[in-house]
Amino acid sequence: MDQIACPACGKQFQINPSYYGKSFQCQCGQMVNVPNPGMAPPPPPPQPGYAPAPQPGYAAPPPGYGAAPAGPTGTPGIVIAGFIFAFLCPLLGLILCAVGSGEAKRRGAGSGLVTAGIIISILNIIVSFAIFSQGATY
Ligand SMILES: [Zn+2]
Repeated sequence: MDQIACPACGKQFQINPSYYGKSFQCQCGQMVNVPNPGMAPPPPPPQPGYAPAPQPGYAAPPPGYGAAPAGPTGTPGIVIAGFIFAFLCPLLGLILCAVGSGEAKRRGAGSGLVTAGIIISILNIIVSFAIFSQGATY
């Protein structure tokens, strides 16, 4: 595909890629230098590999990070309050956890805290009833 002309006699030669950057002797005795295509591209084309967007793998933001839902995320505050009240006031903690469980499921977060709050609330209610009933028998 590549051709080169002898500067002395003008004879055209088909250039084998293995001759790039080397020189050979023409039949007229003139040494013909074969330009290396990497060093001096004959007609500089507007190299399409440079101008367009650089490697899409680098520029694109990693999927999954930017796709977070826009609404509030994380454990709902009412669930956290319910978990705290499970220790302080078990009945109120049970109610708050029950109310917050729907919100926790909707957000996909905090349902473990809901379960823990409900269990602790029920345990504390049982314990307080046991203490109360024991105290009542005295
Ligand atoms: Zn020649």
